[in-house]
Amino acid sequence: MNSVPTSQATLKKLYIAGVWREAADGKTFATVNPATGETLASIAAAGTVDVDEAVQAARRAFDDRENDWKKMSPSDRAKLLWRLADLIEQNIDELARLETLDNGKPIYESRNVDMPMVAEVFRYYAGWATKVFGETIPSRENYFNYTLREPIGVVAAITPWNFPLLLASWKIAPALATGNTVIHKPASLTPLTALKFAELVEEAGAPAGVFNVITGKGSEAGDALVEHPGVDKIAFTGSTEVGREVMRKAANTVKHISLELGGKSPNIVFADADLEAASRGAYLGIFYGKGEVCAAGSRLLVEESVHDSLLEKLLARTQKLQPADPLDPKTRLGAVVSEGQMNTVLQYIDSGKKEGAVLIAGGERTQVNGKGYFIQPTIFDRVGNHMKIAQEEIFGPVLATIPFKNLEEALQTANSTRYGLAAAVWTRDIKKAHRVARQLRAGTVWINTYNVYDPTMPFGGFKQSGFGRELGKQALDLYTQSKSVWVDLNE
Ligand code: NAD
Repeated sequence: MNSVPTSQATLKKLYIAGVWREAADGKTFATVNPATGETLASIAAAGTVDVDEAVQAARRAFDDRENDWKKMSPSDRAKLLWRLADLIEQNIDELARLETLDNGKPIYESRNVDMPMVAEVFRYYAGWATKVFGETIPSRENYFNYTLREPIGVVAAITPWNFPLLLASWKIAPALATGNTVIHKPASLTPLTALKFAELVEEAGAPAGVFNVITGKGSEAGDALVEHPGVDKIAFTGSTEVGREVMRKAANTVKHISLELGGKSPNIVFADADLEAASRGAYLGIFYGKGEVCAAGSRLLVEESVHDSLLEKLLARTQKLQPADPLDPKTRLGAVVSEGQMNTVLQYIDSGKKEGAVLIAGGERTQVNGKGYFIQPTIFDRVGNHMKIAQEEIFGPVLATIPFKNLEEALQTANSTRYGLAAAVWTRDIKKAHRVARQLRAGTVWINTYNVYDPTMPFGGFKQSGFGRELGKQALDLYTQSKSVWVDLNE
């Protein structure tokens, strides 16, 4: 664990054009362990000068026809990504520990879920590097037509703090597999794994400038990337509010954009469901990842006739869940990512009480060993779908339970938010399950399960949850563009 930061004296630098360096104006910011409130490291805060240099570096790596990246064959790019996956696995304990220190998520999750999937995502896209190609198209006699599938150029990946390295991998792997160059701007609350990852990219042998990391505030470094004319594409994951701003500003230079935004996903339990399984799905849907999950099942829609029995089972599970030290492998609920986020969640809890929802579990801040920003697993019952806690993304361990009378009412309620990221349906009736899946306006629907992901399955939102699909074959469309070539065959 040699590079786990321990003090503010440890300055973590920017990675630009294959060189580790401080910000041009020497500015820094601190990253804090939310489980203790202690500073983990001091991080270089990139400004517009640094962003410009990162863009120049990525541009050179992309534009120079004679450089190593341009000359690299698809199969060599595949080998590079495969090597990266190996290096991620070799460094998995350190990466998981950094993620947990920075984000507060249980080490059980970062070690067994986040980091193994990061490695898998790189392997999956290593496979695609050699399988992206154009078509020959019969158009007119005496013409030969074909398309080339080309990379878009310089990709800026702007990522949030909830799955810091995992959500970055969803962008970086397909972008590199298809020959783009990348600038990654991690969330300022959780920059540590992005910096460790850059070391691994260097070790894997990526040519200088192909991959760059700039740490800093969203409103400065992030904004400068979105405004910069040298960036061709913004791959953004974050809140709907910032996503809207990114879209507006990217319009000035007509950049390609993909937006993975917020959610308020309904977890719908019908009376004919396996209630034991559904209660487990409801529990994991909201408390996995402290509820800081874009696709969290934050609205539990339950058919009236099984309301009491489902909630009894859910409460029994919830009562056994206590926030604890994220570094303890037995912990299943960690610290909220920051003091600010903790206060936001507490305000939502307050608003739920004021709007008349019934608090049946949790509802308070707690500490572990007298420190940190923890919130008890919280459940509201008898929530109206119009209430703030049913409409707005809380991004914390807070569940809103909404009873319903019949299928039509369930669908109406499920689809009545501005979001459409994910949804789940629990029933033993297979026809009903598929019918409901078709009628839910969401990018992912789980039937009798929750929170299942795989690099092969596309993920993304409907409505104000964004657009563009990450993962799977579909992500290749986000990082390539078609060129039509016409050849005149007339004598
Ligand atoms: P955020 O929108 O505050 O920040 C996301 C990223 O954008 C960060 O790197 C931030 O520094 C940067 N940023 C902030 N302001 C910017 C600006 N003006 N210009 C450019 N960049 C800017 O989100 P967050 O608080 O880090 O993450 C939580 C949000 O992310 C939640 O809304 C959650 O639903 C969403 N999220 C969505 C998905 C998904 O796949 N749909 C996944 C995870 C998280």
